[in-house]
Amino acid sequence: MTAPTRPRAPGSAPQGVNPSRARQAVRDLYARPALVPADLSAPLLVLPGSPHPGNGLLPGAVPLGDVPRTVERWARLGILGVKVFAYGHDRDAKGSAACAPGNRMVRAIAAVKDRVPGMALTTEVCGCSWTDHGQCVLRAPGGDIDLPSTFRLMKRMAVLHADAGADVVSPTAMLDGSVRAVRTALDEAGHRDVGVNPNLALHTTLYGPFKELMGTDPAAGNRRGLQLEPARADRDTLVQAHRWVGEGADSLTLQPVMTAVDVLTRLHDSQHVPIVAYSTSGEWSALRALGTEGAAEYTAMLKRAGADNVLTFAAEQVAAYLEASRG
Ligand SMILES: [Zn+2]
Repeated sequence: MTAPTRPRAPGSAPQGVNPSRARQAVRDLYARPALVPADLSAPLLVLPGSPHPGNGLLPGAVPLGDVPRTVERWARLGILGVKVFAYGHDRDAKGSAACAPGNRMVRAIAAVKDRVPGMALTTEVCGCSWTDHGQCVLRAPGGDIDLPSTFRLMKRMAVLHADAGADVVSPTAMLDGSVRAVRTALDEAGHRDVGVNPNLALHTTLYGPFKELMGTDPAAGNRRGLQLEPARADRDTLVQAHRWVGEGADSLTLQPVMTAVDVLTRLHDSQHVPIVAYSTSGEWSALRALGTEGAAEYTAMLKRAGADNVLTFAAEQVAAYLEASRG
């Protein structure tokens, strides 16, 4: 028995011209914008004051003094989000300066909010910028992760950032229980309306330029145990996302994306919280080679693949291009 075929509507046989594509007015009627500046967020890497060899190496890598004019320029282009990373100072084994009032992160948050109060500001919550060993976590003398101390550090950082004006905090080290710990700390400090956006980080070489610039490469070993294995990322990312949402995450970040677009789509299809696609520092040189239009096409593809927002070093370049092509 053959499956019944759907009767073809009269006049719908292929004739070479598709009516939904043929006329500009109809294309406009059915179209949605491929990408708008509001789809973009920019990483802001706050470095020690000039002269610093890293200034300008990646877009958005600036000293504190340049933060106001940088975010003002982004806001004028319609970019609505920024994620702040600070180059840690006074590093020690416990990452103490990460929790010090008035540290570089706190001053950067204040500088952004002062100049562009309406910009959605996310902060990185992680030990690696602030520990002298460059690890994201604190370890016991035997080498095991000291979970209570690490969670205490993450909670104190999150509350400090929220007190300074952060809208969302983003725990980076993928430790089960960390999102719940941070969520609880924020609630107890009266920051119920501050979001928690944990990372879903695949092991990759595409973090290289960031790690070098921010001095966050661990002195010994690597972070593989705190990241998702690429070969299993199609499954493990979904399991981890489910856990994070269960712990109280209200949005998620996937990084990198150039080598994980399949994962992005699966994530979008299986989770209902907003997904941020973080096009990491190692993707930047590839995006430069693509040119401005190519970078815009790539970013639009990430949106189509399931990103609710794209965090990218190409944000300013792409937003300026979108502005120019609109006018
Ligand atoms: Zn880290």
